[in-house]
Amino acid sequence: MNPAGRSAFLHPFARPTADRFVTIVRGRGAVVWDDQGNRYVDALASLWYCQVGHGRDEIAEAVGQQLRLLDSFHTFEMFTNEPAEELTATLAAAAPIAGARVFLTNSGSEAVDTAVKLARLTSVLRGEPQRQLVVSRHHAYHGVTIGGTALQGLPANREGFGPLLPGVHHVDHDDPESVAALFAARGGEIAAVIAEPVQAAGGVRPPAPGYLQRLRELCDDHGALLILDEVVTGFGRLGSMWGAHRYAVPADLITFAKGVTSGYQPLGGVLVGSAVRDAIEADPAFVLRHGHTYSGHPAACRAALANLAIIGDEHLAQRALHIGAVLSPALNELLDNGLVTEVRGDGGIWAVELPEPAGAPAVRDRMLGDGVIARPLGPSTIAFCPPLVIGDDDLERCVVALTNALRAELS
Ligand code: PLP
Repeated sequence: MNPAGRSAFLHPFARPTADRFVTIVRGRGAVVWDDQGNRYVDALASLWYCQVGHGRDEIAEAVGQQLRLLDSFHTFEMFTNEPAEELTATLAAAAPIAGARVFLTNSGSEAVDTAVKLARLTSVLRGEPQRQLVVSRHHAYHGVTIGGTALQGLPANREGFGPLLPGVHHVDHDDPESVAALFAARGGEIAAVIAEPVQAAGGVRPPAPGYLQRLRELCDDHGALLILDEVVTGFGRLGSMWGAHRYAVPADLITFAKGVTSGYQPLGGVLVGSAVRDAIEADPAFVLRHGHTYSGHPAACRAALANLAIIGDEHLAQRALHIGAVLSPALNELLDNGLVTEVRGDGGIWAVELPEPAGAPAVRDRMLGDGVIARPLGPSTIAFCPPLVIGDDDLERCVVALTNALRAELS
C-alpha cells in the first residue's frame, strides 16, 4: 500500500482512485473463481481472448518445457528459434492470405502499429511516398500505442494524450459511401484502410452487408492496402478461423493477438501478404528496421502452437456458431420483451443495448453478484464473448443473470 492506502498496481482502463477490486485466483474452462471462493462464468473470455478456456494443462506443459529448454533468445537479424519457425509456418499455412509471411509482436496494439508501419513503408518503397494516410472507422478500437490511439474511433480514449499520429482519417463505420467519397477526394494519398471485421470494444458491431467488400474494391481501385484487425475476430470467434473467411474479404495485412494463445502467454502479430512482401523483398540489401525484443519469444510461440492444436482438435470454431445459436434467440427474446433495445453480434460475440435508465456498469455489477462476468462497453452496452468451450448451462446463466439485472434496474 502506498501513503494514500492504495495498491501499488495502477490499473489499466480504471479510475486511479478505485479501491474495489475482484482478485481472480483460479480458472477452469469458462469459469473463474475469486479469492473469496465465488464462482463466475467468464462471459467475455477474460478480455475477448480465452478461446480454449482456462486451466488447460497441455498449454502450461508446453510453455514449461520450453522455458526449461531455452527460456528465450532474440530473433533480430540472423537468429531464430524452432517454436517461432513452427508457429509462423502453421499460421501462414492456414492464413486467408496466399503466400503470407508472419511478423510477431507481444500484443494487439503492437500488431496494429506494425501493420500501419508496413503499409506506409510499402508506399515509400513503391515510390509513392505521398501515400501515408490511414483510414479508420468510427467506433473502431485498435489498441493504445500512440498509433493505435490515433486510429481508435472512440473519442474518449483519444482525449488528453496530446498530438497523436498524424495522417489518420476517420470514416463512417457502416456507410461505405463515406469511404468512397474520401477515396474520390484523396485516393492518391491513402496508404491503407484498417477495419475490424466485427467491431468489438466499440460496441460489438458486425459489418453492414457488403461494407467490407466495398472497402476492398476501393483499396484495389486506388492502390491502397486493406488491413483487417482480427485481434478479436481471429482464431474461431466468428465460426471460421478468420473474419476474412467469414465475410469472404481478402486482406493485404491481418493483425492478430489474443486468441492466438488464448492468453496463456502474451503474443500478437501480423499476416503479411504479397503487396507488402513484393515491396520489402524487392531489394536484397533492404533491412526491415522494426521489431520487438520479444518478437518470436519461444515460450509464447509454444503456447500458441498448443492453443492452436486445441482449437483445431476440438473444432472450436464450430462451437462459436453454437454459442450464437444459443445466445441470439435468448437475447432476442429480451428484445421482444422490451428489456433491451438492440441485439448485435455474430458467431461467438454478442452485445445488447440497454434502455434508459439501466446503465451498463450497474447491470454489470448486478450480474457479477449473480456469478457472471460480462463487460460494459460505454454507458449502455453489455457484451458477451465467452470462451468457445463454454457449456450450455453456463450460457444460460449469462442470460438469466442479464435478465435479472435488467428487471432489477428497470423496476
Ligand atoms: N485491436 C483490436 C481489435 C482489439 O480489440 C484490441 C484490444 O482489445 C487491440 C487491437 C489491442 O490489443 P492489446 O490490448 O493486446 O494491445
